[in-house]
Amino acid sequence: MHATVVGGGIGGLAAAAGLHRVGWTVTVLEKAPAFGDVGAGISLWPNALHSLDELGVDLGDRLAVQTDGGFRDRRGRRITRFDGAEFARRHGRPLGAIHRRDLIAALRAAVPAESLRTGQEVTEVREDGLVRVDSEELRADLVVAADGIHSWARHALFPHHPEPVYSGSTAYRGVAHLPGTGLSTSFDRGTEVGVLPLTGGDVYWWISSVTAPDTGRAGLRQAFENWHDPIPALLAATPPEAVLHHDLHHLDTPLPTYTRGRIALLGDAAHAMPPFLGQGGCQAIEDAVVLAHAVSTEDSVEAALESYDRQRRPRSQRVVRESVRMGRLGPQLTNPVATALRTAVLKRLPAKATARVGAGITGWTPPRLPRPVPPRKP
Ligand SMILES: Cc1cc2nc3c(=O)[nH]c(=O)nc-3n(C[C@H](O)[C@H](O)[C@H](O)COP(=O)(O)OP(=O)(O)OC[C@H]3O[C@@H](n4cnc5c(N)ncnc54)[C@H](O)[C@@H]3O)c2cc1C
Repeated sequence: MHATVVGGGIGGLAAAAGLHRVGWTVTVLEKAPAFGDVGAGISLWPNALHSLDELGVDLGDRLAVQTDGGFRDRRGRRITRFDGAEFARRHGRPLGAIHRRDLIAALRAAVPAESLRTGQEVTEVREDGLVRVDSEELRADLVVAADGIHSWARHALFPHHPEPVYSGSTAYRGVAHLPGTGLSTSFDRGTEVGVLPLTGGDVYWWISSVTAPDTGRAGLRQAFENWHDPIPALLAATPPEAVLHHDLHHLDTPLPTYTRGRIALLGDAAHAMPPFLGQGGCQAIEDAVVLAHAVSTEDSVEAALESYDRQRRPRSQRVVRESVRMGRLGPQLTNPVATALRTAVLKRLPAKATARVGAGITGWTPPRLPRPVPPRKP
């Protein structure tokens, strides 16, 4: 059986790894000249780490395990404590963070090199499994459309479906070298600053704000100079030209189905969400395991796609809704009374309870994929 995967981001590569794992041949078509991802980090929750294990993706020593952290206010006063050890004990895997470049490299390593093609912009996908790149036509039993939030495939398959909407915040991201920095998320009205240590003394930081500092990237240092340590130091240690700036969008109107004929939509193409739960990439990885499991257990591609849609749509669309809700209650809250009330409620949460929050999302475990059969000894 053969699959064509459109898009070589986290979702496309994870899907290719899963399909390869269950014995399919795969071709990944990525339009960019090289596989890679933006120069930032990403949080990986236990649901994604369990799924990567199942896909056979080895993060090696690149995964930074988060042990202790919590919410703070802009002056650094602690609002909650996150008990990382308790969290890992409950879920069997920790909260992890990794440089996106390393995640992409690990995903690529789980897919045969000959399956990966760059500089390949797909211009047509057909429900019968035909994919067109330039003048070449590829035919497959299954097409995985993993072409991201502004998915061209989604638009072609659901031409009347509303496009992603603005989520109400803009985001800045960067990676700085600042050994000894710990995990934290700090809030002020309408603004959140997250700090996530990576390995080797590198630190991934992100800022989301309902009103972008109008000074742009270069003015970020000034805009956050009165925030608590290490935020000013992290911004100072990041060259302005290496700071990523994106307005946040999500697919507010849920798709009626994730499949059309032999095509499965996967990742942001199916369920783009704002990053307030750090789950967009994690959900794409979940999609990949479920798809691989479905094709390896169902009798036909049609039945597998029906099963994939049935399993993935309700869950991933719930995570989209929860992410939107979390944004409104957290980083996007601007009303001073509501903000004070939120802080008061959060302060009462014991550290052990914070390890349970969101367990319905982070505690998901993947189905088991058939293990590859070891080659017979001659
Ligand atoms: C600020 C921010 C912070 C985030 N933080 C987290 C986090 O901490 N944890 C988390 O899990 N998620 C996070 N996310 C979400 C996560 O980045 C996305 O959900 C994830 O990258 C989606 O992967 P994907 O493969 O579906 O799409 P993408 O990564 O967008 O990949 C799509 C790929 O398809 C290619 N492509 C597009 N069109 C074509 C075509 N016609 N032909 C061939 N190739 C094509 C593109 O070049 C691209 O490589 C965050 C997102 C943002 C914006």
